[in-house]
Amino acid sequence: MKKLKKVIVVVTGLCMCAISTLSVSAATVAILDWHLVGEDKHIDWTGNSEYLTEFVDGTEIWNNYKADVIREATEDMSVELTVSDFSEVSAAVGVTSSRGTIKFNSYYMDDYSNVQKTNVCAHELGHALGLDHNQEGDLMYAVVADVITLSENDKASYDASYARY
Ligand SMILES: [Zn+2]
Repeated sequence: MKKLKKVIVVVTGLCMCAISTLSVSAATVAILDWHLVGEDKHIDWTGNSEYLTEFVDGTEIWNNYKADVIREATEDMSVELTVSDFSEVSAAVGVTSSRGTIKFNSYYMDDYSNVQKTNVCAHELGHALGLDHNQEGDLMYAVVADVITLSENDKASYDASYARY
């Protein structure tokens, strides 16, 4: 539990000035001004990672709320997202780009529990779906945690982002 304060960052030219936060009922909605969902309302992903098991678990966390939005690409699909790993001594555990990539930093990931790896994978997928950082206890909180379920803030933010697809 020593390295848990690493921040998950989202890298894009736009994200720093693109935070949209408003209150809807009791939940706090936080969405980016971009997402990786294609014209067909799916994110079709490809690529490889040491953490594919946790990544697939992460896709299921979102798909259990809205069915089948994130899919593993087959040959006849256009790909919206490519997954890979890197290793670097930096503050970033995972990086999602508006260019269509998610990269996991094995320098930190390898020390994490399966639950924490799943948290990072699902969090980065949240950015791919257009969600921005939110509050402590949310999957979209900016710090690695043992959270692997969607909070009311996560669901409300996904609803708001989904409405744009
Ligand atoms: Zn993040």
